[in-house]
Amino acid sequence: MVRAADDYCARPWCECRTREIDHVTPYAAGGATTRANAQGLCRSDNLLKQTRRWRVDTDHDGVRMWTTPTGHKYVSPPPPGAAPPSVLENHLRRLLEVSRT
Ligand SMILES: [Zn+2]
Repeated sequence: MVRAADDYCARPWCECRTREIDHVTPYAAGGATTRANAQGLCRSDNLLKQTRRWRVDTDHDGVRMWTTPTGHKYVSPPPPGAAPPSVLENHLRRLLEVSRT
């Protein structure tokens, strides 16, 4: 479904075709395997996102904010058809965040 909906890489200004499907919030960090937490990336940006100090966050409307190692922030719109997280998903995310602190 992600490959069908996301023709192009989700990183701002990248015009490459989607090659890999990424958990926006990494699975290892509690990210769910849902459409709202999935995005299509090109191979190099998927690797880039895994490097230190790169970060991608999703707000309540599904808009993604990419933060670079220098602290610059860039917005990436939600992919078509991606429903924003439900109230329950947001509540569970907050509980997970609290449990990690
Ligand atoms: Zn890319």
